[in-house]
Amino acid sequence: MSEINIVDAPPGTEGPGYFATSLDKVIGLARSNSLWPLPFATSCCGIEFMATMGSHYDLGRFGAERLSFSPRQADVLMVMGTIAKKMAPVLKQVYIQMAEPRWVMAVGACASSGGIFDTYSVLQGIDEVIPVDVYVPGCPPRPEAILDGFQRIQDLVRNESGRRRNSDYYKELLGQ
Ligand code: SF4
Repeated sequence: MSEINIVDAPPGTEGPGYFATSLDKVIGLARSNSLWPLPFATSCCGIEFMATMGSHYDLGRFGAERLSFSPRQADVLMVMGTIAKKMAPVLKQVYIQMAEPRWVMAVGACASSGGIFDTYSVLQGIDEVIPVDVYVPGCPPRPEAILDGFQRIQDLVRNESGRRRNSDYYKELLGQ
């Protein structure tokens, strides 16, 4: 019986798993073009989101026309507007209720850094309570900027492993 050498990988397939890498890419492509956003809109930036969803800019072109108002069925949390400190626990709760993998966009100056409201009552950036993947600058950001931020989320999704994210950081943050 001839001996089969199973140690040497065929040329071009060396490395940590040719098949797994390809599967990651397929999952990433499918995920990135079927994201369900949860719009957490509290003030003026939310108006720009309405324009972003309208026929002229049409976020639906990127596979995201199905908005979810249930955190358990959402992939991308889009925070748009001023977040008062009293609202921070609600935002955190919504984030916790989302299943992994999940992504977060801080849309506009208020969500990113508190914006012009450097006051005792306003959260100086949602990253004080939840992790943020993409920040979109502007007061308010134009729909083009929101679309650009969304495409950066898609890039992250495409390049993410098919496995669950490393949740240790999030568990620590959320005190779980
Ligand atoms: Fe309003 Fe500007 Fe804050 Fe957006 S960033 S919520 S437009 S004040």
